[in-house]
Amino acid sequence: MNLKVVFKKSKNFDVKSNRIIKYIIIHYTGMKNQAVAIQRLQSQVAKVSCHYLISKKGKIYQLVKDHNIAWHAGKSKWEEDVNLNSKSIGIELVNNGKEIFPKNQIRALLKLLTALKKKYNINSKYVLGHEDISPIRKKDPGPKFPWTKLNKLNLSKKR
Ligand SMILES: [Zn+2]
Repeated sequence: MNLKVVFKKSKNFDVKSNRIIKYIIIHYTGMKNQAVAIQRLQSQVAKVSCHYLISKKGKIYQLVKDHNIAWHAGKSKWEEDVNLNSKSIGIELVNNGKEIFPKNQIRALLKLLTALKKKYNINSKYVLGHEDISPIRKKDPGPKFPWTKLNKLNLSKKR
């Protein structure tokens, strides 16, 4: 992947040498700022993580390698699949849950999605939000997330 990615270590994952990546799940961090969000994604008490985190300026961080299982989705379901962590890549967008997603952040996300979809041959209909797969518990990435933009580029098939 010829995207610039900065590594930040998180121990919150299950080791896996090969797995089928069927889904990409999009989240917002829902924390007051990026530092607090990264701290949480690295905390061995919180036990949560993601594969990628994208800053508001569009910088891409990787916390867990693609082939390992990051702990981002929790209890979740889509079609016949349950607990989607094992089959997915999780992407967190730095956003407190009420903010507009900045242009540079979305631009970086579109690039990352394009690269990941190609690399793992992921169907656009399996690019989903956390709110889709855990609708009772989760609201992210929320109504401000630009699904129409993703749809237009055939990166998702939602709404
Ligand atoms: Zn989430």
